[in-house]
Amino acid sequence: MNIPSPSGPGPDPAETGWPSTISFRPEDLEIGDEPRTGTANGQHDDELLRLLAHWGMNQRNWMIGFPVNLDFDYRPLADFLAVSLNNVGTAYAAAGYNISTRPFERQVLEFFIRLTGGQVDQVAGYTTSGGTESNIFGVHLGMRRYPDAVFYTSADAHYSVDKITSLFDLDQVKIDTGDDGAMDLDALTDACLRRRDRPAVVLATVGTTMTGAADDVAAVRPRLAAAGVHRVHLHVDAAFSGLIVPFIPGYGPWAFDAGADSLAISGHKVIGLPVPAGIALARREHLHRVGSHVTQVDADDYTLTGSRDGLAPLMLWWALRRLGRDGLERRARHCLHIAEYAEQRLRECGADPRRVPHSIIVGFQRPADDVLETWHLLDAGEQSHLIAMPHLTEEHIDRLCQHLRP
Ligand SMILES: *Cc1c(COP(=O)(O)O)cnc(C)c1O
Repeated sequence: MNIPSPSGPGPDPAETGWPSTISFRPEDLEIGDEPRTGTANGQHDDELLRLLAHWGMNQRNWMIGFPVNLDFDYRPLADFLAVSLNNVGTAYAAAGYNISTRPFERQVLEFFIRLTGGQVDQVAGYTTSGGTESNIFGVHLGMRRYPDAVFYTSADAHYSVDKITSLFDLDQVKIDTGDDGAMDLDALTDACLRRRDRPAVVLATVGTTMTGAADDVAAVRPRLAAAGVHRVHLHVDAAFSGLIVPFIPGYGPWAFDAGADSLAISGHKVIGLPVPAGIALARREHLHRVGSHVTQVDADDYTLTGSRDGLAPLMLWWALRRLGRDGLERRARHCLHIAEYAEQRLRECGADPRRVPHSIIVGFQRPADDVLETWHLLDAGEQSHLIAMPHLTEEHIDRLCQHLRP
């Protein structure tokens, strides 16, 4: 089997037999009574899995439509596939199940606390299963602080927000966005004023799913205070752009230094992981509202789940150690450069690109079905969205433009 190189764009999938979808017959995957190890059947299974893995790795040549970095390789950590890791409880728990990666997780958390303008003695958190759990954690914390709060989000907030509204049966008010894709703070202030007898849990988005726009986090608290609304929990959903905006020169405060009470950031998007993971952070002073002492594990636990992944924080630690803050900055600059390059090239080929300031998402005229499929693009009506994640190169964009030619 000829396996394309894992880095950089490869040949056209039509020529190499690496299409953008792969399917299996259910009868080939069925789990039966007979063990399938060490037999011809077992070898057949190994082949099948190899095919799936190689197909998956090759998709880094074609994946431009989802916010995931595919340029990673954690195979040096393969030994951990034979260790029962579990970080149950918090990363700071001293007792309980101790085949864990908690000391590594604490370093990952400290890195993110510093990156988000927090102080290590004032902010804490944990590694979650992804952005959604991190948002649930932050909004739940806000609702425990202010049980009669109204839940304000922008109309462009991630769909996980609607799940949270349903889960906790919240009164959600969606605020319109302006031309720049960010929450209209005049509209937010008006909406809060109309309900000024009730506190506010505000979810601000840093990097919306459709345009990559960021809400003006630093302005939320002062604007609401000026309107007489002081009981505010401010959660920042930075799942998408939390590893981009800190590296934009002159960007200004956007997280804990901008008045955030809690924050969500993704582990598998800009960093890239073989499994989803996220980071949830919050001001320590709020954590007692959700924490409880669990005698089975002899520890305080403010996390939402029981058992907790120990491998994801280890992979994050490994990736962050290898990148450092400087490596992340280079990565963010690369993404922004590719987004600018794509905007320019797509304009040249008449695809009507659109991009809001500082975004790594470029909207353009919806291409033909075969182009959508090859490049993993979502069909969002008139527009499709290219997301300049770290594995994208100028070559990806050039090949896309060739593909767009009729
Ligand atoms: C991806 C994303 C989420 C959800 O993250 P999952 O890891 O898919 O649960 C939430 N908010 C924003 C802004 C996102 O980009």
